[in-house]
Amino acid sequence: MDVRAQIVMAFHLDKCIGCHTCSISCKNIWSDREGTEYMWWNNVETKPGLGYPRAWEDQQRYKGGWVIDGQKISLKSMRKTTSLLNMFFQPNLPAIEDYYEPFDFDYANLMEAKSADDQPVAEAYSRITGQPIEQIKGSANWDDDLGGSRLYAARDLNLQQAKLVEEYDTLFMQYLPRICNHCLNPACMASCPSRALYKRAEDGVVLVDQNICRGWRFCVSSCPYKKVYFNWQSGKAEKCIFCYPRVETGQVNACAQSCVGRIRYVGVLLYDAEGVEAALLKEDAELVQATRALILDARDPRVREAAAANGISEEWLAAAARSPIYTLVKEFEVALPLHPEFRTMPMTYYIPSLSPVLSVYGESHKLLEHGMIPEPETLRVPVDYHARLLAGGNRQIVESVMKKMFTLRVFMRGENLGRPIDPGILAAAGLDREGALRLYRLFALAGYNERNVIPPQQREDQESESRRKGAGFGILTKTRKNR
Ligand code: SF4
Ligand code: SF4
Repeated sequence: MDVRAQIVMAFHLDKCIGCHTCSISCKNIWSDREGTEYMWWNNVETKPGLGYPRAWEDQQRYKGGWVIDGQKISLKSMRKTTSLLNMFFQPNLPAIEDYYEPFDFDYANLMEAKSADDQPVAEAYSRITGQPIEQIKGSANWDDDLGGSRLYAARDLNLQQAKLVEEYDTLFMQYLPRICNHCLNPACMASCPSRALYKRAEDGVVLVDQNICRGWRFCVSSCPYKKVYFNWQSGKAEKCIFCYPRVETGQVNACAQSCVGRIRYVGVLLYDAEGVEAALLKEDAELVQATRALILDARDPRVREAAAANGISEEWLAAAARSPIYTLVKEFEVALPLHPEFRTMPMTYYIPSLSPVLSVYGESHKLLEHGMIPEPETLRVPVDYHARLLAGGNRQIVESVMKKMFTLRVFMRGENLGRPIDPGILAAAGLDREGALRLYRLFALAGYNERNVIPPQQREDQESESRRKGAGFGILTKTRKNR
């Protein structure tokens, strides 16, 4: 057992109101500089929708992530023959139109315009060329709230694969906040010829060393989530840094701190690095279970012993033992990874949305009145859509989460009305009374310190060369000791 620690964020999609406060707080702190105008390290997309950059999920086009190649996996974007050619030309990069041409408004004109018949206006101008933009044709969330959905959202790949294009606008809409996933098998890192990207040994945060980066942009091509950006001013790659200067001082990430819906959870997971390679070779539909199987219980004495041997401190073990992420991902199995089939093993997790609890196929919402659990297929958010988004196409996994979430609602309704439900209904969803109350507390009542369990860490205590060197998942077989 090779125990590693990873700091992880989880998102409860039912609670996201799409206010973008998280994106703004991130932008104000980290990407408010020349060359970073178009970067949104944290962005919030409307789903169904094309997202940001447009159609980032389409790996036929962008060739991000990993593919199974015999008995190993290899980067989709880097074949031996093409890698050298691509040193000076990256054919699969998103263009500026796929992000959007960053713009601002000429507010000075409102104050300084000469007297005239018409009211002065603040015209849009390009932050790149400085020239006026007659018509804005894109932004970081262009299909916000299904705006222009017939043009944009209908091209959502998950929707197409789930064969829901015809009916989606009568079905559902939800928000999807995204940051870098600080993956266990980061494609960005594996693709970098300069080895500028690295994964920190102590917490698994993936960073770009600005002194080493030479601007090859292989990382931008290889990241299937398009969460590395090229700074046109500095000529270097930049990405979400998991707010490490905040986390190192015990503060939660700016996006999570400012989240209006309190949808975010931050905590530590322990995992067995020895099993990563084999897990990545599983079929798409088996990847969620394979990743879950790698996650270790920090209360298990054998795990603690192996973790201590790898240099994981008592404070981190204590934080891992009360991690809300462990509760959501492993204990109750209600949080799922985004597009596990990209095989980067993302370390952010999503609790799929159930709300609004309405049926389009019948009157299943009325079952709530009678304390009955409807079949997940009859709910408003299609199981197939979430299966494409969060489970490598595995419907059973999503159905099991949906059933748990719905049962929890029925249970709490019964509790609040003084009409407790039959324990058999809870058991059928894999819950018991104590577990249901704990899950409800985490979803609805938990305060700041329950939602965010960040262990203390001090950089000066870390080894000076605390990088997981190398490229691809091979690096994960090195322990701190033998590095
Ligand atoms: S999402 Fe994963 S592959 Fe993409 S930049 Fe982050 S760590 Fe790298
Ligand atoms: S601040 Fe929270 S609720 Fe608002 S968009 Fe961001 S994740 Fe959603």
